[in-house]
Amino acid sequence: MKIIVAKHMGFCGGVRRAVDIAQKTAATAGGPVQTWGPLIHNPQVVRGLGEAGVAVAERREDVSGTAFVVSAYGVERAVLDQARAKGMAIVDATCPVVIRAHAVTEKLAAEGYQVIAIGDHGHPEMVTLKELLGDRVTIVHTREEAARVNITGKVGVVSQTTQSQENFRQIVGDLALRVRELKVLNTLCPAITIRQEETDEMLPKIDALLVVGGHGSSNTTRLAEMGRARGVPTYHIETAAEIAPAWLEGIGTLGVVSGASTPTWIIEEVMLRLQDLGGS
Ligand code: SF4
Repeated sequence: MKIIVAKHMGFCGGVRRAVDIAQKTAATAGGPVQTWGPLIHNPQVVRGLGEAGVAVAERREDVSGTAFVVSAYGVERAVLDQARAKGMAIVDATCPVVIRAHAVTEKLAAEGYQVIAIGDHGHPEMVTLKELLGDRVTIVHTREEAARVNITGKVGVVSQTTQSQENFRQIVGDLALRVRELKVLNTLCPAITIRQEETDEMLPKIDALLVVGGHGSSNTTRLAEMGRARGVPTYHIETAAEIAPAWLEGIGTLGVVSGASTPTWIIEEVMLRLQDLGGS
């Protein structure tokens, strides 16, 4: 079995930065350190951070300690207020790409555009954008949702940084036919689009696709969706232990890609397991 591995694997810059900040905070805070929910969407990394002293708060009443690390995609205001009220030091690990996307979207709204953001309802990046802009932004995830938006004037469109290029392209195309004045700001993260482009290029050359990354990771899930949409047998795993030998039977070429929150050590374990199963 031949294995083709994407060029861009492992942590993106924003995830690397967030993990470094959390580790450094745990080493220097001098007391309990918390994040709100997982710092990044990879359970194995979050477990390692827990061992290093970064705990995950799941309920607002549990937020307490010495330092509170804001995750890569931001944290809702009520939780930050709670952390401040408890006297915690706020350490901001929000990705600069997300901060920039929010800033340009805010400018779009200030210019009088009715803003439509293409993203996942409930994703922290979209929740914090909604807090920033309130009624001035409508979040849509699908073409159907976008079609139901009542257009009132000139429209500005942005995307969650980790959305799929294809979804962005389709919704923008639909809106272009409905709106007199449409301003499109491409706020997709380059670290994500390059992985999608590599996956897209790889799909015609492979018999099956292995996607490595957190099951709760939005950008990793997109890569798996791309494989399935093209009819390529696709397996989304978090760790090497999940690989079933039966998946590889009769496979001539296997493609391997990873999400932006997948650590190198997990990818290395996956490659070793694939070699044990006859890959080269
Ligand atoms: S994928 Fe992009 S937006 Fe998300 S953390 Fe990485 S660099 Fe930041």
